[in-house]
Amino acid sequence: AERPASIGELLAASVNLYADKDAVVTEQRTLSYSELDKESTILAANLQQQGVKKGDRVGAVIGNCAEFPVVVFACAKAGAIMVPINVKLQVEELQYIIGHSKPALLITEAEYAEKVSEAVEQNEFQQSDRPQLFIIGGSNSYEELLNADAPFQQTQIDEQDGAFILYTSGTTGRPKGAVLAHINAVHSVMNYKKRFETDETMKTIVAVPMFHVTGLVGQLLHMFYIGGTVYSMKRYQNEAYIQLILKHQINFLFNVPTIFIMMSTSAEFQKHSFGFVRKVAFGGSPIYQQTFQMLKQAFPNAQLHNAYGATETTSPATLMPTGYPISKVTSVGLPVDVADIKIVDSEGYTVPPGESGELYIKGPMIIKEYWDNPAANQSSFTDGYWHSGDLGIMDTDGYVYIRDRKKDMINRGGEKIFSIEVEDALKSHPDVVEAAVIGEPDPVFGEKVKAFVVGPKLDPNDLDGLKAHCKKTLAKFKVPEEFVLIDSLPRNASGKILKNTLKETGGRSNA
Ligand code: ATP
Repeated sequence: AERPASIGELLAASVNLYADKDAVVTEQRTLSYSELDKESTILAANLQQQGVKKGDRVGAVIGNCAEFPVVVFACAKAGAIMVPINVKLQVEELQYIIGHSKPALLITEAEYAEKVSEAVEQNEFQQSDRPQLFIIGGSNSYEELLNADAPFQQTQIDEQDGAFILYTSGTTGRPKGAVLAHINAVHSVMNYKKRFETDETMKTIVAVPMFHVTGLVGQLLHMFYIGGTVYSMKRYQNEAYIQLILKHQINFLFNVPTIFIMMSTSAEFQKHSFGFVRKVAFGGSPIYQQTFQMLKQAFPNAQLHNAYGATETTSPATLMPTGYPISKVTSVGLPVDVADIKIVDSEGYTVPPGESGELYIKGPMIIKEYWDNPAANQSSFTDGYWHSGDLGIMDTDGYVYIRDRKKDMINRGGEKIFSIEVEDALKSHPDVVEAAVIGEPDPVFGEKVKAFVVGPKLDPNDLDGLKAHCKKTLAKFKVPEEFVLIDSLPRNASGKILKNTLKETGGRSNA
């Protein structure tokens, strides 16, 4: 079959084949493929009526719900670039993303409306640039954008046109907006289908956020491409998740390892068997071998698939193929067919198989650029290869193993936290002289945020003030869970903070 050239075409092909089939099911609503198609065209027409033109951004601070995919396809059809924004962010974090992406219009849910509108206000936009806010189920309501009489103007979409801007944490302390083109997403869903061997009989639950790339591409777009059904959960919760799996005989699970770990510890999980599950995929962070073994036992008839990727690779860069040899079990699988992955040393030269280096990744699923960010565009790509910041090896059979990270980032249950952002927040406290944060190993989240702080005026027995200070500007998942007061930070001769020393000693040699 010919490949779709855009996200709109991807949906159209499935609507042709599966019109009356359930596309998305939530506690509140069920939308068939044709309903999803119709409602998204209506929303697209209303966006146009609001003045949204091709290439304009539409910001969406929306959690998992049926409206999310409606907004995805409405933007795709109108040629607007959807900017899905993490609902957990605080006003200041939202302010930056809104100010940087300059959306023509914003859609949110009632529970986030206050902070979103504050973030808009604080940007001090010119009256003409200020994005209007539409609230799902609120006053100034999103429902006004569902006027069925608005005429839809067909828009020509080029496969290289931007479809999404997803903000990922940056090394300079400000998030970078990865611009995902239509063609990037199309290649990614094809890669998933091919490597996972998925088809229209698949049913999945999106328990990870739809505003991150795994939920958006690995689940939503992937399912809509193959004609499957997406069940959605507003917030992950063990019992509800397990009940949904059983009730709908969900056969495809795709989560960060943290969710599987939480699920496996619940009493409800132990009570049932899950022989009907056919695919279990995991990615977003490294998986513990014991978690992998647990999944094997809990889902005896399922093919397990590790999935390695990033926002910049539009989700999958490597995937564990069906029927992989047992000797490859600790790998993240093989590069997707269209990917070109090389492992390079610190000078950018390719190293021999089996030797460690940074993963450079190229292919039609790789983003071309970060939004309005010449510095990052310059430093993050070489000849079309994206610098992943991940360290690993490739064996002689082409399997990839992720071993470590070059980028100073903490991976807390799949949520990526760039250390510098937390350090900046800490340093803005009047009594903090210096600060460094690291990822402390955690059995459920993989890593949690731990802060080392130099501040002679701070009371070592009362560091709660520091936590409260961080909470003012940082989303809760970024706030350090542990603080250690030390005399000075360990540094090398050139003054660089030795984070590995902090990880190994816990700061003790220094205290
Ligand atoms: P999501 O944000 O939806 O969880 P993601 O993890 O693929 O998707 P990013 O948030 O951009 O995308 O994070 C990418 C980083 O996550 C990678 O550079 C790597 O450090 C880590 N990562 C992703 N998948 C794996 C994996 N399977 N094994 C180990 N690390 C992974």
